[in-house]
Amino acid sequence: MEKSSYVSRVNQLDADLLDKEVTKIIHEQLSNVYKELPPGILSKYQPEIDCLLKTIIWYCSILRNKSTFGQQILAITYQKDQLTRKKLLFHYISTILSSYLKDVSHLRLTNHLEVQKIIAWIECSTRMLTIINFFRFLKIGVYPSLVDYCLGWKHTAKSGTRMRNVGYDYMNRELIWTGFLEFLTVTLPLVNFHSMRRKITNALKPSVTQQHSKKQEPAMNINTKCAICLQRPSLPHHINCGHIFCYYCLKGSVLADPQFQCPLCDFSSSEEVLPVKIKI
Ligand SMILES: [Zn+2]
Ligand SMILES: [Zn+2]
Repeated sequence: MEKSSYVSRVNQLDADLLDKEVTKIIHEQLSNVYKELPPGILSKYQPEIDCLLKTIIWYCSILRNKSTFGQQILAITYQKDQLTRKKLLFHYISTILSSYLKDVSHLRLTNHLEVQKIIAWIECSTRMLTIINFFRFLKIGVYPSLVDYCLGWKHTAKSGTRMRNVGYDYMNRELIWTGFLEFLTVTLPLVNFHSMRRKITNALKPSVTQQHSKKQEPAMNINTKCAICLQRPSLPHHINCGHIFCYYCLKGSVLADPQFQCPLCDFSSSEEVLPVKIKI
């Protein structure tokens, strides 16, 4: 093989993976369109829709551009003189028509046990041959797929393309982010955000309002809201400042910061949280 037309094994395998991804993406886009339709209308024609989709992709890639979409992304192509009419027809039958027939048999010929047995046998032998071909490909470096091997279609690099270089930029970025996340995971639990927020809020207040020290028994009515989460208080409790809190909001805040201040009136109490007595 000429050095200029050499295609590495990795590139050939990547091209195959990219082809599968392209088909998957288009398939997902189509499925999103089906979702809007009433269920069951198109599902009975699924093999035909898949076949049509693959045929369009095949027509736009191999037939027109002599290479699949994955190969085009990686600047690979089939040698043009290899793509004769007969071989193209064989490629279409072996890749698209065969998978269509398989789908049809699974969907509509479930009662024909003989047909199912033949199809299972063909599938099994194709898989075996694919595995053998893959090992052969790893050793020799040409014909990554069984169909390519049968047709003798070799991948060649497009003229003017250079060998693929591995870029480590992405990997370095990933490593930095992972390190940063690990650092945050270790340090964040050590920081008491409740206490920090209270200190910052107190420092930023222009004139500290005189904290009332008088104990006030809270009165609860239908419009009462928790001073922390601003929702209807569940298990209402208080700290003698006249405001009401959910038990979990208040207890959680007091446990996190023993010098907890009421967010509405800055009252700070060292006493235990107390349940609200409901007067009937
Ligand atoms: Zn609450
Ligand atoms: Zn208060």
